[in-house]
Amino acid sequence: MPNSVTPTHCPYCALQCGMNLTPSQDGGVTVVERPDFPVNKGALCGKGRTAPAVLASGVRLSSPLVRSGGTLVPATWEEALDRVAEGLTRTRTEHGPDACGVFGGGGLTNEKAYSLGKFARIVLGTSQIDYNGRFCMSSAAAAGMKAFGLDRGLPFPLEDIPRTGCVILVGSNLAETMPPSLRFFNELKENGGTLIVIDPRRTKTAEQADLHLMPRPGTDLALALGLLHLVVAEGRVDEEYVRERTAGWEDARAAAMAHWPEYVERITGVSVPQLRETVRLFCEPEHAMVLTARGPEQQAKGTDTVGAWINLCLATGRAGRPLSGYGCLTGQGNGQGGREHGQKADQLPGYRKLDDPEARRHVAEVWGVDPDSLPGPGRSAYELLDALGTDIRSLLLMGSNPVVSAPRAAHIEERIKSLDFLAVCDVVLSETAALADVVLPVTQWAEETGTTTNLEGRVLLRRRAITPPDGVRSDLEVMHELAARLGGERALEKGFPTDPEEVFEELRRASAGGAADYSGITYHRLAEENGVFWPCPAVPGTGNAAGGEDDSPAAGTDRPAHPGTPRLFLDRFATPDGRARFAPVSYRAIAEEPDDEYPVLLTTGRVVAQYQSGAQTRRVDELNAAAPGPFVELHPRLAARLGAAEGDPVAVVSRRGRAVAPARITTGIRPDTVFMPFHWPGEGRANTLTNPALDPTSRMPEFKACAVRVEAVKS
Ligand code: SF4
Repeated sequence: MPNSVTPTHCPYCALQCGMNLTPSQDGGVTVVERPDFPVNKGALCGKGRTAPAVLASGVRLSSPLVRSGGTLVPATWEEALDRVAEGLTRTRTEHGPDACGVFGGGGLTNEKAYSLGKFARIVLGTSQIDYNGRFCMSSAAAAGMKAFGLDRGLPFPLEDIPRTGCVILVGSNLAETMPPSLRFFNELKENGGTLIVIDPRRTKTAEQADLHLMPRPGTDLALALGLLHLVVAEGRVDEEYVRERTAGWEDARAAAMAHWPEYVERITGVSVPQLRETVRLFCEPEHAMVLTARGPEQQAKGTDTVGAWINLCLATGRAGRPLSGYGCLTGQGNGQGGREHGQKADQLPGYRKLDDPEARRHVAEVWGVDPDSLPGPGRSAYELLDALGTDIRSLLLMGSNPVVSAPRAAHIEERIKSLDFLAVCDVVLSETAALADVVLPVTQWAEETGTTTNLEGRVLLRRRAITPPDGVRSDLEVMHELAARLGGERALEKGFPTDPEEVFEELRRASAGGAADYSGITYHRLAEENGVFWPCPAVPGTGNAAGGEDDSPAAGTDRPAHPGTPRLFLDRFATPDGRARFAPVSYRAIAEEPDDEYPVLLTTGRVVAQYQSGAQTRRVDELNAAAPGPFVELHPRLAARLGAAEGDPVAVVSRRGRAVAPARITTGIRPDTVFMPFHWPGEGRANTLTNPALDPTSRMPEFKACAVRVEAVKS
């Protein structure tokens, strides 16, 4: 392997910070600055800086494990793969292909996500595949598709933020989730712009805001409608823009006008003067943006809520124009790419729809199969997990830890235990892997090459920097071996190469002509250009047509390759008529309102030193020292009612279960709300409590608001 510097990207969140890796004396790698990557310019949070710790042998899995006599014991790869093939084959024979489930992850590279979707549909023949990205940003994706005809996290690069006039940040604590991104917002303020943060907690991000609104959890939809009402009432609608570039305004306008500011104040707790001030700050500058994250999205009405925020942008002419627009701050490392290339229940590569005959024809041709042989759309993530042990008897799980991260987690843990067969591919023995019949240890970020797509829609190349340890194999090798065992030579004729660049070449062809068109992107370009924004179609005659020809931007010709698309919608939206669509949405309450028995609201989220289910970061000493365990954040008035002091254990009880964690008392949270981070298993598992009520469009569970009671724990 090279012993010089390897430029690559962080294994964790959707910022996909650039970093350089240098060999260390113990045979591993050390992270050093990579200032040439424009998103983070060398800055990293503690998670990225310490990521090599998970490469160490004492932390990660280094041998396949198979269950024997009730315990997991080391096995050879041949034995483990045979066991997986046997388990899946038995289920398929006895119960049919749809009894085999596949569950992926938003951390998988584009190549892995693509191969997993293909594996499920043409090797297993199952429709039952989805992934944990459904829990992340699917409501924003659904709302973006409805409004703009296209879903890409941000339709502009982060570097536009400092040059706009105002940003409303809705339900995002990026000071903790992606700290290097904060510099864009600091620069915005230095340039005279305004930052408005909407969050029921005074987070580290809210502390940076010029204006912080603290709505009751689950009421963001009412808040956005109230702001639009004021936009209309104060004559701030951009009538020409609405006429020229949108459709559906009258219905949306009528819905908003039913949400009087005083009514919205009663629902949200945000005062009318604050609503007016927000409208003034948002509308006065020439340019402005709204960015949402999990707060408004992880609700049973998340699609409508995001739609209402998009309405605000459209009514004021702030979408599809330079330095203005709506964007979603995607969470997981490849949450964006993961939803574009086929591991989502309803999708084929290139963001094609599985129920579109032309999409099926195109992808089936690339895969060399009959379009009619492709299964239809399957269940969404929570519905798939809820069906384990009943309709779905066996599960192949890759890069996810639903025992910690799924809503109503104790129930999902029971469903997983009731499976006939569970195979897990992971780097570490996660809480879910510990329940498996077979665990396959796989390579990680620094040990493998592959592409990811960050929250800006920028496709990036992660590069292999070190040789993986003996005993682990890549996810691509696993799929190749399983395809051979389950489908024989016929399956291998249809692909499943183990070289990621070969997979990417096929992905290019499969995505060509789709919404997320990667056909003009090559590994060569990614290495040369520090990433390329999709859509980036191949340009005929330039030599970079999809299919593995010479991939230099304009090989053998003067014609330039497509430059990629950093900014979307400047000329037209991706709808059939080029107009954006207003969403005619009205407020409705959360699925589970507080009552006498459960009088408090629970909201959940993240802390800076842990990532998602914590499977990796909980194994890093430095991160554990900074964030050793769960806690319950509560207001002093609520703490006083309970008689709880700082650090005392308190129990949070919902209709789904009970969690116990130390109290953290702060005036930075509403008195009617408690907060728990969700990174830990066991007694303090926040997702024991959360409500799996689903958004009707996105099928996103309502992680962000449920009714609980809080009790002092007697020692
Ligand atoms: Fe990694 Fe995200 Fe931290 Fe950047 S902000 S170093 S991508 S975890």
